[in-house]
Amino acid sequence: MSHKVAEVIIDIPHGDVDRVFDYSIPQELQEKIQPGSRVKVPFGHGLRNGFVWKVKEKTNIQKLKAISNLVNESLLNPTQLKLVDWLVKNYFCFYITALQAVIPPEIAREEVPKESRVYPLPGEGPINWGRAGKQKKIWEHLNSLSYPPLKADLERELSTSSSTINTLEKKGLIKVKKEIMKIDPLSPRPKKGKNFESEREYSIEEKFISPGKFLLRFGPGENLWPFYCSLIKKTLEKKKGIILLVPEASQADFIGKMLVNLFPGETILLHSELSSKERYDQWWRSKNNRPVVLVGTRSAIFSPVQDLGLIIIHNEENEAFRQQENPRYITSEVAEKRIEIEGGSLLLSSSSPSVNAFYLKKNKNYSYLESPFLIENEKPIELVDMREEFEKGNISIFSESVKTVLKDLKKGTSKTIFFYVNRRGYAPFILCRSCGYVARCEKCNRTMTLHKTSNALQCHYCKTQQEPLETCPKCQSKFIRSLGIGTEKVAEEIKKYFPRLKYMIVDSDRIKTQDQLEKVSREIKEQKWDVIIGTRLLFKEFFPRFDFGVMVMADTNLNLPFYDSQEEFFHLVISNASRVREGKLFIQTYYPEQKTLQFASKNDWDKFMENEWEFRKKYSYPPAKQLLSFSLSGKLEKEVAQGAKKLAKEISSLACKGELDMMGPVSVSFFQEKGKFRWQVFCRAGKREMLGSVVNQTNGLVRELIRKGIVVNLELNPKGML
Ligand SMILES: [Zn+2]
Ligand SMILES: [Zn+2]
Repeated sequence: MSHKVAEVIIDIPHGDVDRVFDYSIPQELQEKIQPGSRVKVPFGHGLRNGFVWKVKEKTNIQKLKAISNLVNESLLNPTQLKLVDWLVKNYFCFYITALQAVIPPEIAREEVPKESRVYPLPGEGPINWGRAGKQKKIWEHLNSLSYPPLKADLERELSTSSSTINTLEKKGLIKVKKEIMKIDPLSPRPKKGKNFESEREYSIEEKFISPGKFLLRFGPGENLWPFYCSLIKKTLEKKKGIILLVPEASQADFIGKMLVNLFPGETILLHSELSSKERYDQWWRSKNNRPVVLVGTRSAIFSPVQDLGLIIIHNEENEAFRQQENPRYITSEVAEKRIEIEGGSLLLSSSSPSVNAFYLKKNKNYSYLESPFLIENEKPIELVDMREEFEKGNISIFSESVKTVLKDLKKGTSKTIFFYVNRRGYAPFILCRSCGYVARCEKCNRTMTLHKTSNALQCHYCKTQQEPLETCPKCQSKFIRSLGIGTEKVAEEIKKYFPRLKYMIVDSDRIKTQDQLEKVSREIKEQKWDVIIGTRLLFKEFFPRFDFGVMVMADTNLNLPFYDSQEEFFHLVISNASRVREGKLFIQTYYPEQKTLQFASKNDWDKFMENEWEFRKKYSYPPAKQLLSFSLSGKLEKEVAQGAKKLAKEISSLACKGELDMMGPVSVSFFQEKGKFRWQVFCRAGKREMLGSVVNQTNGLVRELIRKGIVVNLELNPKGML
């Protein structure tokens, strides 16, 4: 059915244009334009891109302008439009911002360069080539290829000229098409997929026969890929599509390459580190082919995979599944919405599922499954009481049991050990013993880390550097010392006490690219290193595993003041455990009785979660309650503070309605960044819709603040909050 009027959302992310504008649809486009079309419309003084949101018969607006042209008939499908609407309402962003999240930039802008490709045509009847041997050669060559080549490549490879190709086209034997340059990141794809049989039987697979929502917990370091592959195979056999999400691009690459060997025609790879040409190719493949298995990172949840049968979110607890810019969505929530719209199953899996996943299991009818190999993948963990070590006179950073392992390594057992340290550099604090002065970054107020290798104090947040301090700048005392343990410090101790062990530091000072990480990875496998000292880089899924592991100073991660720091710590212990192969993980601590440590050391996820859930409920933290943070920042502290106070006042006038409570405004000096000041106001409610109404009712004030140059960010259930 044709319509005469279109509601269009303009490509300008600004509060004042965050609504639909009516345009008339020219006669010749009435059959074509539909919700999700990409159009150009007159707006302000020029032409702007926009998305058609709805089409309708009439409007009350007089003097309607007409759509100038149609860029793409159906760029967004109905599911994507519904997701956009839901993103706006759930994460409080502009429509255009949600649209831009759903569609990759190169697709929205069609900015990818065009190149000519040559397609062979069958021709009518037998072709009489006569003396045109060169043309014959080209035509036969084209027919031998499984894909149409670029014109430039063809000319080069067959050393032929443009005019010969033109003649062939005139004869109707080939077609030269100007096409957007696409590159398949998975090429060359094998012609035939390898046969796949899982060596292990996963009895839980039966559960996936009927659609549903599942939470799967597996063992630390367990290889779950045979299980996923088996699920993917069965879903593809039913002609249904799969979206498989992993936290990182490098991981997606790895898995994409693995899957393309099994499902060469169906595998698609989509993440933000692909080039524009690659992303363009893969996005359109996911829209045009079916069924497909798409591997990607967070934003791939919006890809236009058709006939969706299954969404898998691997390592769902990983922070990478939270978008850090608007719309600040949580991937598992989008996935849940998506299967609600399209049907299919959702599988969240992790060796350490999040509190949020626990909440879903408890309250939202997620079926909870455990891998049949969970127990056999559990790792022995030993809690080492560093207070006892101290009493016994051991003042080193290595406990006696760790020293024993290190001594054994020295005997050439060809075993390996890793040390997890949460800070790179030598020491995370510089303290004056005389007056208590702590060296802090002038720009952002965070403590400076001492780096011995580069002989400098460094702020890890804003990268400011300065010379190490000889005397205290406050009291001129000479007793200014470094405190705490960084990667360089552990390396120094290894060098000093175990000089024959070969060690390597794996942190972002030394490992900056994926290639470097792969190099170390290889070297570890070739047993070039006995000891690896590293930060979170150690936990990259395809990094090798070790015989032993040590969390050098677990307490630094345990005592953070955030509401979710216990959860983070639990995940951290399981991440460490998953790096251990056969041996043992040592956790060095001054507080082994601590509950989280106790639960984590036994891999007792259930007990930990029950305990943590009680805490979240008692103090109304997410996900027990829904929490919304308004974060205001700007260069003038007074203005930001006033804005925050005004906002708090407005919210508290709503808060009287009950069910809603407010905290703040508070100044967040801890996060003071690059000369900007930040204030926060928090709202808490049992239901998210309540928060939505707060957003709507404060909208006018927020816009006023934005106009004054204050940046206002809204975030739902933020992590790492005090
Ligand atoms: Zn001092
Ligand atoms: Zn700084």
